[in-house]
Amino acid sequence: MEKYTDKNLLDTIGLSYGELSLKGKNRGQFERKLRNRINRNLKEFDYKLVEDLSKLYVLIDPKDLEKITEKLKKVFGIVGINQSSRVSQKDEEIKAKVLEFANYAYEKGARTFKISVNRSNKEFPINSMDYAKEVGAFVLINSPFEKVKMKDPDVMIYIDIRKEVYIYTTRIKTYGGLPLGSTGKGLVLLSGGIDSPVASFMMAKRGMRINFVTFNSFPFTSKQALEKIKELTNILTDYTGKSRLYTINILKLQEEINGKTRKEYATILTRRVMMRLSERLANSMQYQALITGESLGQVASQTLGGLTCTNASVEKLPVFRPLIGMDKTEIIDIAKEIGTYEKSIEPHEDSCVIFAPKHPVTNPKLEDILTEEAKIENYEELMDEIFSEKEYFNFG
Ligand code: ATP
Ligand code: MG
Repeated sequence: MEKYTDKNLLDTIGLSYGELSLKGKNRGQFERKLRNRINRNLKEFDYKLVEDLSKLYVLIDPKDLEKITEKLKKVFGIVGINQSSRVSQKDEEIKAKVLEFANYAYEKGARTFKISVNRSNKEFPINSMDYAKEVGAFVLINSPFEKVKMKDPDVMIYIDIRKEVYIYTTRIKTYGGLPLGSTGKGLVLLSGGIDSPVASFMMAKRGMRINFVTFNSFPFTSKQALEKIKELTNILTDYTGKSRLYTINILKLQEEINGKTRKEYATILTRRVMMRLSERLANSMQYQALITGESLGQVASQTLGGLTCTNASVEKLPVFRPLIGMDKTEIIDIAKEIGTYEKSIEPHEDSCVIFAPKHPVTNPKLEDILTEEAKIENYEELMDEIFSEKEYFNFG
């Protein structure tokens, strides 16, 4: 349908929000958050954000249409976007504009059309069915169109009557979700792989303000590996807004694990170090949940046994694993869609891989893990040291 639309007519972008309207008394707060996000994402443009009968509209210069649409698509809480033309309630103005839409569509090859009217403003004197018929007849008389088609017309022209009137032909579906910051703050354990960036996106979509922590084993892992993670963070700020990436070097504890415990447990023991440090960081920064990119059964450390052992190192915070029930192909599809995939598949060394055992235990028992962990007598001191040496970088 888009090819039948004259983009030069589109001076207003209507925003629909679905779930938001269900939230009853929270609605005011949600709307404020949504407006803030919109204003932030559009700060480089000339535009005006206005409300019309509890729907938000962005008045734009038509030349910015595509760029602004791309930015708005990334604002969580918006379920749909209508690129529209705004006119007053005057009958002749509405009809003239609809005719412009129709003539252009005909020129581009459309041969059937339908008019759909939504009358949110009941002060408008004609009901929506009658007005649709009236405008349809007007188009038939004044344009080359010879046919209205009720089912699957080539072009559908929507007329949304509020205080002003919005005319459009296409509805663009967007991510939905909830406005950033409306459901709390979470800390993502971000590696350079495919999964954790997708997990970040999914929790941001549910309205969580996101910050990141990444673990390295410098100098065994390179500066480039960290650069890659910074670049991933940067891509993610399109969705997460302002965020911070903490980096923590866990080499000291990895060396202890490597020297003192059974090889096949190294990955799980390292994962537990990461979880503990993340919880400590979250507590000190008031992040209310940990988020990982784990998916059940994907690798040896993500069996039910592996996840149980990893999870048991976290004392109080909930750990969200939004990818737990997803297949790798589904995760990859999202990674491509949100723009992190290409960066994620660039080669890098991961902290876990440095001392990774050839034959990791596939279904570890917690008691065995605890026995191994107890062999590191200075665990707590090393944790303190490692934690105090953390660094951070701000993004967005
Ligand atoms: P990813 O694609 O996110 O790297 P993965 O499939 O490689 O995931 P693992 O390496 O087993 O899986 O890691 C599982 C999860 O543990 C990751 O999704 C991430 O949340 C966390 N994690 C792993 N390594 C690191 C790291 N070096 N720094 C921060 N978090 C990490
Ligand atoms: Mg990984």
